[in-house]
Amino acid sequence: MYELHPEDEMLHLTLMDGQARVLLCETTRMAQRCADIHHTTPVCTAALGRLMTGTAMMGVMMKGEGESVSVTVKGGGPMGTLVAVAEQGNVRACADNPRVELPLKADGKLDVGGAVGHEGRISVVKDLGMKEPYIGQCELVSGEIAMDFANYFTVSEQQPSLVALGVLVNGNAVLKAGGLLIQPLPGCPEEIIDQLELRSPMFADISREMTFAPISQLCEDWFRGMEPRILERTPLDYRCTCSRDRMEKALISLGRKDLQSLIDEDHGAELVCHFCRNKYSFTAEELTALMDGSKGDNEK
Ligand SMILES: [Zn+2]
Repeated sequence: MYELHPEDEMLHLTLMDGQARVLLCETTRMAQRCADIHHTTPVCTAALGRLMTGTAMMGVMMKGEGESVSVTVKGGGPMGTLVAVAEQGNVRACADNPRVELPLKADGKLDVGGAVGHEGRISVVKDLGMKEPYIGQCELVSGEIAMDFANYFTVSEQQPSLVALGVLVNGNAVLKAGGLLIQPLPGCPEEIIDQLELRSPMFADISREMTFAPISQLCEDWFRGMEPRILERTPLDYRCTCSRDRMEKALISLGRKDLQSLIDEDHGAELVCHFCRNKYSFTAEELTALMDGSKGDNEK
């Protein structure tokens, strides 16, 4: 064991003098934090960990300050809807039901596809700081998440991609989590693509590989002879951006009628953030102040 708890980070690489782009990341801490917040069962730890890892990759590809991406997976499985949001390296996630328990698959792996379901869609909303966000979506392939990201990149963004995502779980502990994205860039020769496909079994079980070597070593091993060059490293973290201010805005957006019923019937409100489970309490007086300060155009 080389290091017990290295920081999560994303490596940005090129291969063969820029003919292909690679993102390779460790997300162990992020997946553990998510498991601790949502008290996930192992299969849900894996599903959310994979989703966050894929979303982190999209997040670091967006360079602008304040840009964010949210990925929603709705597969009709018992976990319900899964959501992950990334603002560069800061990621957060939640699911309708993070306590799903399913038997292991025949190969001994967690049945992520069974928990997520595969009758539905993966939707991506990129907030680029402009008025209209970019929205893309496509059908789920398997609900196993990695294949669904690969298919999304290929179909919806016309960018052929190889994606590996893995979360190695033991009970409540995340032993290793991480992901790999390889994208041949325009003009990349066919031999290089073939070469990458030939090597893909090496990174199929990425989280287990990560128990043997740090990711910087793995990228040297996996891409030997293909001139792997690390251009950039981005720290990754599970981080929520909720605040009392945002919760106030959410309350105001309910409109006067619903606010009044919170005041009359519940004598206050307690909001819980879906992503970090932080609680925000509002007294009836505070709700009244919000209502008086709010504009009448929210009236329902
Ligand atoms: Zn929060």
